[in-house]
Amino acid sequence: MNSDDPFTTAIQADRDLRTDADVAPPIRPSTTFEEGADRRYRRASHATTERLEAVLGALDGGFAVAYSSGMAAATAALDHLRPQRIAIGRVYHGIGELVRHEVERDRIAVVPPDELGPGDLWWIETPSNPHCRVTDLAAAVARARVSGAITVVDATLATPIGLRPLEHGCDLVMHSTTKAIGGHSDTMGGVLVARSSETAERLRDRRAIMGAIPGSLDVWLALRGVRTLPLRYERATRSAEHVAAWAEQEGLVVHYPGLASNPTHAIAVEQMHGFGALLSIDVGDHDRAALVAASTQVFTSATSLGGVESLIEHRIKSDPEIEPGLLRLSIGLEDPGVLIADLTQALRSNAPT
Ligand code: PLP
Repeated sequence: MNSDDPFTTAIQADRDLRTDADVAPPIRPSTTFEEGADRRYRRASHATTERLEAVLGALDGGFAVAYSSGMAAATAALDHLRPQRIAIGRVYHGIGELVRHEVERDRIAVVPPDELGPGDLWWIETPSNPHCRVTDLAAAVARARVSGAITVVDATLATPIGLRPLEHGCDLVMHSTTKAIGGHSDTMGGVLVARSSETAERLRDRRAIMGAIPGSLDVWLALRGVRTLPLRYERATRSAEHVAAWAEQEGLVVHYPGLASNPTHAIAVEQMHGFGALLSIDVGDHDRAALVAASTQVFTSATSLGGVESLIEHRIKSDPEIEPGLLRLSIGLEDPGVLIADLTQALRSNAPT
């Protein structure tokens, strides 16, 4: 099994954890196990969780610990590191809220990266959601190391196919497996990937106490989904490039690192494999954005991202601090020509008179 080849890794990395002749992993809902078995209670760990962790760890080149959601994984990272100060840019609003909650309770202070000290945390989301800005990880790690700060990278939008932050020297990786890793909008989960098995073990012990282990059907679905992640990522990323190029030609403001005009394009080319399946377009004002989101016939108007089906979201409905004209597009596996035709007709639609 070659971990440099994600297609093989996604399918083979948990092969040694098979417990029977079934080719497909079984769904195992049991919460408790007969005395004398190698496990006692599911809150500590679980066979399908361990298979998912084997695959996700191999894809990211580290040691994975699965959680019940991306937010649970982020909470576990903060709990594990307990930094006094955190540097954090414009990130997914849920993570922003989590940090704000800590700030309000005087448990943490938000500072610029240069004011971090030993044991402090630089939380990086790259590409960021929903503006798709790419952070130069090698440069960030070099800056963090000067002060002894720790770097955590939320690579949900890139997936382990698009970006392997541990290879850039980052300390901990986070993904919401609810998104492209699961890939079918039917499972909720998150994962932390550590550089060492010792750190992963500590996270796993703490997860048992926090009660943040994912459900058995969720991990089964995530494991099923991740098998095709490399293929889906390749296809959706290529389609997103087409949609972004078309939107730019239409004169819209487009946030996508794959466009040469994007301010973080050069870093994305160097750091990423493919530019991801998420982009945002700004159509100027609130009402127009609401109308476009309501007028698509192929894109479904819904939050979330990374599924096989394309979604459009008038982002202000999830994040009240975002530009009112921003539409977030999660590109799925449909024909990009069909997606562009759908957006074209939605952009031409007029409000009923
Ligand atoms: N990080 C990013 C970048 C996200 O987009 C999301 C959810 O949209 C999360 C974290 C949180 O993940 P979850 O919804 O699985 O808790």
